[in-house]
Amino acid sequence: MKKVYIETMGCQMNKSDTERMLGILEHFGYTATEDEKSADLLIINTCSIRQLSEDKAFSKIGLWGKRKRKGADIKIGFCGCVAKQKGAEIFKRAPYVDFVMAPDEIAQLPEILGCGSAPDTAPKRSKSVNAWIPIMNGCNNFCTYCIVPYTRGRERSREPEVILKEAREAIAQGFKEITLLGQNVDSFIGGENYKLPRLLRDLNAIEGKFRIRFVTSYPTDITDELIAAAAELDKVCEYFHIPMQSGSTEILKAMNRRYTREEYVQICAKVRTAIPDVTITSDFIAGFPGETEEQFLETLSVMDELELDYCNTAAYSPREKTVAAAWTDKFLSKEVKNERLARLNEHTRKNCLKSNKKFVGRTLEILAEGFEEGVLTGRTRNNKIVHIPCERDLTGEFLDVKITGATTWYLRGALQA
Ligand code: SF4
Repeated sequence: MKKVYIETMGCQMNKSDTERMLGILEHFGYTATEDEKSADLLIINTCSIRQLSEDKAFSKIGLWGKRKRKGADIKIGFCGCVAKQKGAEIFKRAPYVDFVMAPDEIAQLPEILGCGSAPDTAPKRSKSVNAWIPIMNGCNNFCTYCIVPYTRGRERSREPEVILKEAREAIAQGFKEITLLGQNVDSFIGGENYKLPRLLRDLNAIEGKFRIRFVTSYPTDITDELIAAAAELDKVCEYFHIPMQSGSTEILKAMNRRYTREEYVQICAKVRTAIPDVTITSDFIAGFPGETEEQFLETLSVMDELELDYCNTAAYSPREKTVAAAWTDKFLSKEVKNERLARLNEHTRKNCLKSNKKFVGRTLEILAEGFEEGVLTGRTRNNKIVHIPCERDLTGEFLDVKITGATTWYLRGALQA
């Protein structure tokens, strides 16, 4: 039997794409392996958000190329966003690569490998409690720093029936949580008057005990109707990931984000008012071209004002083809970017701890996700990680846990009888 090893970089959408590739490959007789040395087919599923990630991908396939040159009988595939962005250029840089495949070409994988035509296969999901289900792909927003509209193309939503079928199958297979994925998940359009709130309602109506999440939300696509659905539907978790990117309206404008600081603050206020205990997480960029110290301080102040529960942070990294990459005269030095990034992280840590401490003494429902050395790890509905001393592996179960302590990154808890 042939074996395939896939190394996945980047976001959940890539993880979901990997599951789709594995589903197809399994149909053609491949089994997935975690041991790259034993694989006949090696695939790297790349991310182009940052230069570092792209460099890592080339360094990884460089090692595979060395093995091939020494006579190993392996096939090497280069997939994902860097594949879309660079295309055939990749063969020049890495001539040992057998095929380059963009994310929107995954269905053609069998033809690419010369083993047949694309079957209608289910994704091969990893053995976790959570099933990722993409509902839309691509982006129409063209933020000036972002490569995604060039790598993932324009927005395309999947058919509601297909999504609902996949969700029903995942629940029947025992998955306890469904996460709907999309670059701008809240601009999903499944037909006339069929937007994300209606999809959530239809998913919520599927029988069984499970949770529903959705990521990532574009701030101004969060409608009152969506907030109301999230507040009302019992299976939809109290969790919103809403990237803000900067707390300065001027920088937001330069980023081509379609909202002001005040509008973002107002959206978060609406979400917090409608949904008690909601966790709101965000993304921020440190050192966007031309960002002044004052403008950067506006980012720190909005993080504190909104008490954002967690923030992904990154120093600005110019990406080829994007508008901001041409503003070289406005680029900030590496030192300034890293120093600002450190301050963003410090504020993230402070707000994270503050947010976690609020739950000490409360009893929360967790979904157990893993067990190691006498510690069960689970997640609350509002996406807080909880570690619980436990004698048995209860992965996959919903449990009531009394929160006994809080650290910056997780809560501690005790099982309730
Ligand atoms: S909304 Fe902006 S940051 Fe998000 S994927 Fe689209 S272009 Fe990139």
